[in-house]
Amino acid sequence: MAEEPKESGQAKPGFQNPVAGFGVTFKAMFKKRLTEQYPEQQKTTAPRFHGRHQLNRHPDGLEKCVGCELCAWACPADAIYVEGADNTEEERYSPGERYGRVYQINYARCILCGLCIEACPTRALTMTNEFELADSSRANLIYTKEQLLAGLEDGMVDTPHAIFPGTDEQDYYRGLVSEAAPGTVRQVAVSKGEEPEEAAATTGAQEPASREVTGR
Ligand code: SF4
Ligand code: SF4
Repeated sequence: MAEEPKESGQAKPGFQNPVAGFGVTFKAMFKKRLTEQYPEQQKTTAPRFHGRHQLNRHPDGLEKCVGCELCAWACPADAIYVEGADNTEEERYSPGERYGRVYQINYARCILCGLCIEACPTRALTMTNEFELADSSRANLIYTKEQLLAGLEDGMVDTPHAIFPGTDEQDYYRGLVSEAAPGTVRQVAVSKGEEPEEAAATTGAQEPASREVTGR
């Protein structure tokens, strides 16, 4: 005949069981509150927090991305889509031969691991501290190049535009170009369907003045 299992401890009298349960509640009442008043009060993230990506520019506004797709190959979640294209003298987006014509990151897939930014050879791709990426639409979670491209700072001209006169791609990576050359204007983005007259009307297009490279 099977032996009866032994009881591990003494059973509490029935009336003590609810009191024991409230003990947990009373203990929690005197602990420091951890509730965060988000979104009214935003918490500061760690300096190296992995948030939304950014496609960076050179100091004159040209894009650092060369459309090499290394970030897309490094991504374990297959979240990045890149299509490269050739620059021309009439429509230049980056100092070298190629640029990223199409660039998309799908935040429905991205796990914000940062492997893509490690793979990028030009430091074109970095991550910001922005973490508010939720959306109710899958389509809205696919960020385009226009959304990811860094804004224009002082001394920058929006792409496409000519390379700083007298420099080559290597000079950009050596830090020899610190701003757009005087007279630099935005070129006509024919590949995006812009008409020459339209661009000329908005920019007053003229050739950039040639001069020595800043910081040489
Ligand atoms: S952070 Fe990670 S998952 Fe997100 S795009 Fe980059 S490599 Fe892919
Ligand atoms: S972001 Fe960097 S790795 Fe990705 S395509 Fe552009 S240059 Fe290449």
